[in-house]
Amino acid sequence: MSANIDTKQLIACQQCDALYDKPELKQGQSVKCIRCGSTIAERKVDSIERSFNWSLAGLFFLVPAILLPIMGVTLAGQYHHASLLDCILVLIDRGFFMIAILVFLFAIAVPIVRLFGAFYITYSFKFNKLKPSLLHFLRAFHHLDNWAMLNVFMLGIVVSMYKLLDDTDLSVNMGLFAFILWLISSTMASAALDQDYIWQRLEDEFVD
Ligand SMILES: [Zn+2]
Repeated sequence: MSANIDTKQLIACQQCDALYDKPELKQGQSVKCIRCGSTIAERKVDSIERSFNWSLAGLFFLVPAILLPIMGVTLAGQYHHASLLDCILVLIDRGFFMIAILVFLFAIAVPIVRLFGAFYITYSFKFNKLKPSLLHFLRAFHHLDNWAMLNVFMLGIVVSMYKLLDDTDLSVNMGLFAFILWLISSTMASAALDQDYIWQRLEDEFVD
């Protein structure tokens, strides 16, 4: 026996798996699970606009975050500046290849891809340039979300490695501020992105 259930009209609580009829939400509204109280669905306010602006800001801070010195170090009485890129080169120079690769991947490459991803998605929605390929793109983007906060961890590793390798006084530089602003912008760009809304729009448009 099979009942015809339209799965598109159902929604499951992510925490406790309770099933509900999918609610029609207006901007700013959200619904909570009766059983466990966690948020089942929400429609974020001005999601596309806000995410677009944050990702633009993120792109703006990208270059200074990578190229400006994040630290000043005093070596043998001489003061040096080191950008994130310099730090990676130092790690390679000292033979820490794995750490250098990890730092490059998770502190630079993944955040850049995520930021461009958020920018591309919101740009496509903002200027009504929706394409079927966006569905594949969104799937890939979704997977990158799991690695979101690793760049903070990686920056920590870089700074402590540097401190260990060269036992010197550290001072904080402009690059670090740019890095933090870049981090905030890309985190906000992802947080503002209403993925459920975007999935729905794309499915309505391209999936029958
Ligand atoms: Zn629940």
